[in-house]
Amino acid sequence: MTVTVAALGFPRIGPQRRLKTALEAHWAGRLDAEGLQTEAATLRALAWRRQAHLGVDHVPSNDFSLYDHVLDTAAMVGAVPAAYGWTGGPVDLPLYFAMARGTQGRQACDHGCAHETSATGLPALEMTKWFDTNYHYLAPELSPGQAFALTSTKVVDDFLEAKAQGIFTRPVILGPVTFLKLAKSKDSNPNGDSQPLSLLSSLLPVYAEVLRRLAQAGADWVQIDEPCLALDLTDFERAEIRRAYGALTHAAPRIRILLASYFGTYGDNLATAANLPVDGLHLDLVRAPQDLDAAVALARDSLVLELGVVDGRNVWRADLTAILDRVEPIVAARGPDRVILAPSCSLLHAPLDLAIETDLDPEVSQWLAFAVQKLEELAILAKALNQGRAAVRAELDAAGAAVAWRKTSPRIHDPAVQARAAAVTADDAIRATPFEQRIVLQQTRLNLPPLPTTTIGSFPQTAAVRQTRAAHAKGQLADADYADFLRAETARAVAWQQEIGLDVLVHGEFERNDMVQYFGERLNGFVFTRHAWVQSYGSRCVRPPILYGDVSRPAPMTVEWWAYAQSLTARPMKGMLTGPVTILQWSFVRDDIPRGETCRQIALAVRDEVVDLEAAGAAIIQIDEAALREGLPLRRGDWDAYLAWAVEAFRIAASGVRDETQIHTHMCYSEFNDIIAAIGAMDADVISIETARSKMELLDAFEAYAYPAQIGPGVYDIHAPRSPASGEMLDLLAKAGQRLSPAQLWVNPDCGLKTRKWEEVEPALANMVAAAKAAREQL
Ligand code: GLN
Ligand code: ZN
Repeated sequence: MTVTVAALGFPRIGPQRRLKTALEAHWAGRLDAEGLQTEAATLRALAWRRQAHLGVDHVPSNDFSLYDHVLDTAAMVGAVPAAYGWTGGPVDLPLYFAMARGTQGRQACDHGCAHETSATGLPALEMTKWFDTNYHYLAPELSPGQAFALTSTKVVDDFLEAKAQGIFTRPVILGPVTFLKLAKSKDSNPNGDSQPLSLLSSLLPVYAEVLRRLAQAGADWVQIDEPCLALDLTDFERAEIRRAYGALTHAAPRIRILLASYFGTYGDNLATAANLPVDGLHLDLVRAPQDLDAAVALARDSLVLELGVVDGRNVWRADLTAILDRVEPIVAARGPDRVILAPSCSLLHAPLDLAIETDLDPEVSQWLAFAVQKLEELAILAKALNQGRAAVRAELDAAGAAVAWRKTSPRIHDPAVQARAAAVTADDAIRATPFEQRIVLQQTRLNLPPLPTTTIGSFPQTAAVRQTRAAHAKGQLADADYADFLRAETARAVAWQQEIGLDVLVHGEFERNDMVQYFGERLNGFVFTRHAWVQSYGSRCVRPPILYGDVSRPAPMTVEWWAYAQSLTARPMKGMLTGPVTILQWSFVRDDIPRGETCRQIALAVRDEVVDLEAAGAAIIQIDEAALREGLPLRRGDWDAYLAWAVEAFRIAASGVRDETQIHTHMCYSEFNDIIAAIGAMDADVISIETARSKMELLDAFEAYAYPAQIGPGVYDIHAPRSPASGEMLDLLAKAGQRLSPAQLWVNPDCGLKTRKWEEVEPALANMVAAAKAAREQL
């Protein structure tokens, strides 16, 4: 009778991103299917052995995936859209990758925003963020009368594979209700609103069959993930969950089901979850510490509670003593065999191993724990609960010392930053005069034609740009030579923009590795790792900066590049910055103060840069907030609070300038309907958005809201390699003109052009300028 440890899921990309290497070699034709499967099996074996070795009792299997676990689930139940020409039978590797990437491969944008290329061939399934993480899943596509069948035995195969290696695993399956809620229903009716959840009855027999097969294979516990329980659900959806688990427990009585939700509180779904006929319930006690008392009050005695006490999706070392204080009474009351310890969610979202970060700042490193370290923490906690705290005294003391140090370290706590953030007043977040007056002053200064043309900021990051940056980073290229190279690239881009007749120019962002990292590297309060990769989707991994302390800007970050670019032209050169919410969203963020407070500190640092750009002469400054929408909380009830601080942060960043300085912002891949009031409240003078693929339908929200300021709806879909003709762009402009006043409109692409080639960009932008000129004639 002991407290045991579970992992929920482990990083699947493997050491040194080995899965990425293998996948890309396979897609490039350099590694055959067998070679890929062999490497995948090696990575699974490594992960299982490692977790077992670290003291995990419930080692997960089937958490590994060649691309995505939601796609795996679609493959398991035969949810293959008709377009792929599949006629039944097992889903093989070519079909699997066709659904994942389309038959032409995927085009990556920033931070995993990726879109299927549309040229020819089959498109990939749509990709969407997994709850509020930066991981992307492939949305299953279901038809109204969708039939399901067991078409992949991966979950059973993986269980048996581990068993053959002497490791008895707890298989992980994405639950049927969450699977259906994440699915898109493709209807013949264009406004099709048929509910994928109505397919539950046909789906359940497949899940029942999976559980029966796992029972035959000898499985004991099975982890079924239903993170939809962290969302707002209807009574009907809750009833369907009860029906589903009634049916599944009945179908496989020998299997013990551990039901897992994470990323937020069960909230009003807790009574449903705690009363399901399952054997165990996972609680995310990092995001929802309040769920513990509530669950204890509701749970029958026999229900095993799995306590997610260590943050599975952030990088901080846990306060082990505080956790023990909380958990010991639960163990005493329920008995050790009714308690499992776990990370708050799958460790898929954490980097693999801190021990390989040899270059990391040693002080900051003391405060961190990656996936491996988190499992070590859980093992220490279990030992303390099973054998008494004295058995792990040294480990508890070390953890306690790190926690205490983090509370007081001057590296983290900068009184000047805190005082400045505390002193922010409403005036700091408001422009001196309203938009209607500012825009007149700005127009007098800028003297732009109607329908002014511009781009979003970046120009192609060619192989030459990337190689030169890499050579410089490795010390093979002197600083001065690197700067010369960047100046030449910038000068070329500026001259070319002028030549094709763009009205507002950009410097091209050649000096930036990444729109967040570039700023993080120049701000106090951030560190960067060498190996802390996390999967964004498929083979794509990101290495988010770690924001560990109070943020401030020691020196200007972009002014020199802006001034150089502006010196080359008489046309306005946009200052180009990443906004506070986007920097926050795409970093690992400290957990010792609220996110909103950290965001305000970043906002003040960005404000300093905005003010310096203005002082240097910039007439237009763009503050990108690509991630504003994806920061929305999972529950509607929490949206207003988030939007209040997020919008305030943008306004703090933007409001240090004079009226005649024009503030732009940019947002990509967004739906705007439900946040249009917040966008209005940002009070930018100009916003550019991604609209080309929606044929301007995304502008409906702006029309309905009577958005007062100026808008650049993207007329060029930059995610596809093709260059649109000017007629196409003219049509899109006409569509935009039906929704908004032409006096409000700018002409620009959907997003930055860094992933494109110059051969694509050159004709596309020339055509765009031609389209704007033609549209002006028609005004
Ligand atoms: N200025 C950035 C660029 O052009 C904006 C990118 C983004 O918002 N995703 O690359
Ligand atoms: Zn964008």
